[in-house]
Amino acid sequence: MTTTTQFIPVRRAVLGEGLSIDRALPSRQQRTIGAWCFLDHLGPVRVHNGQGGIDVGPHPHIGLQTFTWMIQGHIWHQDSLGFKQLIAPKQINLMTSGAGIVHTEETPTDAADEWLHSVQLWIALPEGHKDMAPDFVHYPSLPQFHHQGADVVVLVGALLGHASPVSVHSPLLAVELYAEAATTVTLPLQPEFEYGVLVLTGVADVNEHAGLDKQTLLYLPLGGEVMTVALGAGTRVFVVAGAPLAEPPLLWWNFVADDHEAVAQARADWAQGAPRFGSVDGYDGPRMTAPELVGRIKRA
Ligand code: MN
Repeated sequence: MTTTTQFIPVRRAVLGEGLSIDRALPSRQQRTIGAWCFLDHLGPVRVHNGQGGIDVGPHPHIGLQTFTWMIQGHIWHQDSLGFKQLIAPKQINLMTSGAGIVHTEETPTDAADEWLHSVQLWIALPEGHKDMAPDFVHYPSLPQFHHQGADVVVLVGALLGHASPVSVHSPLLAVELYAEAATTVTLPLQPEFEYGVLVLTGVADVNEHAGLDKQTLLYLPLGGEVMTVALGAGTRVFVVAGAPLAEPPLLWWNFVADDHEAVAQARADWAQGAPRFGSVDGYDGPRMTAPELVGRIKRA
């Protein structure tokens, strides 16, 4: 947690088969925003006949919830609990790893020509929830309303009297704003939350910070009371917030944990095919291999 506004550079990362994504969290400047500990922005990229999208083979998670918000296109999810779910625009998939889960994410093979555009975030599970039972919930619709010329969707938490049904385990907020025509909106902030604002398409001014685009995650510290967002025509903005964590968790590969031992155990369990993780039926391809664990993992 820091006490000043920051401009966090979004960096390019490779997600498997030559597909690049834009990674906003974690960053050197800011490990977490509330319990949000990972923020990937995928696309928009063009999918032709099922090619050019994503194909993420079986891989494990611990200590987190994965949160997927679909903007355009479709992703086919399968997990070791037996859930098989197509996610479509304006829907959320929320997977709770608890002590262990495995999943796959693919562009459907029958996807026609379409754009693929989504964000995927990880939420660190708090103390007492890290070893909870794994779970998967698909949310087909979220509260949506018009506010000062923008379309607002409440993805997590509550805003202006609209509450999301998405179940999380710490105080969090996620909201999407979209403006068909240029407009300026004023949003109340929760002073006990830190905020991150990421432009997904277009350009926006946030408070006195002009010309923000998808290359920069704006971080606003605790204590804010109001946020003014000027959206250009066709601009889409993603806002996350939450109560700061006392200490950022360890992130290593696909694991979120409190200490090195928990990561090392999870790595060994995955390598040995321990029942803690289970397996995904119905995926045609190899499971992922964890990287070598060299030395002790430190909090960056
Ligand atoms: Mn995953």
